[in-house]
Amino acid sequence: MKDYDIVIVGAGCSGLSLAYRLINSSYSVCLIENKPVTNRIRKTWSYWDAYEHPFKHLNKYTNKKLSIHNNKSTSILDCSEQNYCSIDSYDFDKYVLNNIDECANVEIMFDTEIKEIITTHERYDINLNKGSINAKYIFDSRPNSQAIEMKQIFKGLFIRFDKEIKKFNTQLMDFTEKNEFHFFYCLPMGDDTYLFESTYYTALRKDKNEMTDEVHEYIKKRYGDEYSIMREEYGEIPLTTNIKINKKNSNYLNIGIPSGSTRASTGYTFLNIQKQADEYIKKLDGNNYIEFPSTFKSRVLRKMDNVLLQIIKDHPNASKNILYRMFESNDSKRVIRFLSDNPTLLDILIIVWNMPKLIFIKYAIKSFTTRSI
Ligand SMILES: Cc1cc2nc3c(=O)[nH]c(=O)nc-3n(C[C@H](O)[C@H](O)[C@H](O)COP(=O)(O)OP(=O)(O)OC[C@H]3O[C@@H](n4cnc5c(N)ncnc54)[C@H](O)[C@@H]3O)c2cc1C
Repeated sequence: MKDYDIVIVGAGCSGLSLAYRLINSSYSVCLIENKPVTNRIRKTWSYWDAYEHPFKHLNKYTNKKLSIHNNKSTSILDCSEQNYCSIDSYDFDKYVLNNIDECANVEIMFDTEIKEIITTHERYDINLNKGSINAKYIFDSRPNSQAIEMKQIFKGLFIRFDKEIKKFNTQLMDFTEKNEFHFFYCLPMGDDTYLFESTYYTALRKDKNEMTDEVHEYIKKRYGDEYSIMREEYGEIPLTTNIKINKKNSNYLNIGIPSGSTRASTGYTFLNIQKQADEYIKKLDGNNYIEFPSTFKSRVLRKMDNVLLQIIKDHPNASKNILYRMFESNDSKRVIRFLSDNPTLLDILIIVWNMPKLIFIKYAIKSFTTRSI
């Protein structure tokens, strides 16, 4: 049985982000991934440049302005100070895996199944389909099996126009008139490629083909039908405020989505994964660190997100207005801090103050008596 200081389960965004920070450290590290290296899911991670992290050079494209459109009104989110950036997970994988290959202290096992994990004398025995290993710390990013009601479901097409287009409208949210929380997300991605995505926040199942048709219809109506599809992306991000917070003194820690890194009202996760990886390096080095989901601010945000998710579920149209109003009536920097999980308490107070009061207060009161989403 080989001994490691640290075992990381899952070589996705959170597993590789943590492993990258451990390269050439004094810790011996082993990553266990059940999928083969040839079967990586390609994702585009977008985020506001509101936190320093080691993968900024992988940004494919940055946007300085995003529009939000609802009921014939348009609001502009000024991102000139905190650009809206996108990273292709294939570039991220290549970069991190190359660095792991070249270092002596981090190993990675693809195509490897965990059979069981047993606690022994403050260490963990991990039985695999290929032998056994032992570790002092486990960081586990496997998705948990908890059924989650609300999801962000999206289908995107990366396209290239056959002819040059006159003007591209970069849309963070172009809300549709459906009686559902549904919008199109349209971003330039560099290399003359554009992403168009049909996105739902919903408790219902959605048909991938219908979503693809919606995207085609959207593009054709605005830009014509002369374009080629470069690739497609489909995703389901669990939106929940019902999370299990890691125990402060435990050496078995969940990371990534199962640890509550996803912002429940938006699905944004990438930056929180980066913050979490930095905090866990502090923990490993014996320094003070923050367990973000347990801070007072995170609890307040989760309470707010729970109210928003309930409203989205029960009143999708009203919630489009609420979201739109947030962009329209608040300063862009404040909104970006809020969406990036980095607001001050004053930001939260002002954003709540600018919400439509009646429905928000009604659902805030209701949230004390109902189970959180
Ligand atoms: C298509 C898509 C687009 C997204 N876009 C954005 C975005 O723009 N911005 C943003 O902030 N967030 C985005 N997200 C959300 C989030 O950032 C990503 O899902 C991110 O990959 C989550 O990281 P993770 O490490 O928690 O999970 P993953 O990246 O999924 O990593 C988990 C890893 O664990 C492995 N695994 C699973 N079971 C086992 C097992 N039994 N044993 C070993 N390994 C196992 C998986 O194969 C996977 O490699 C997106 C999500 C999707 C699906």
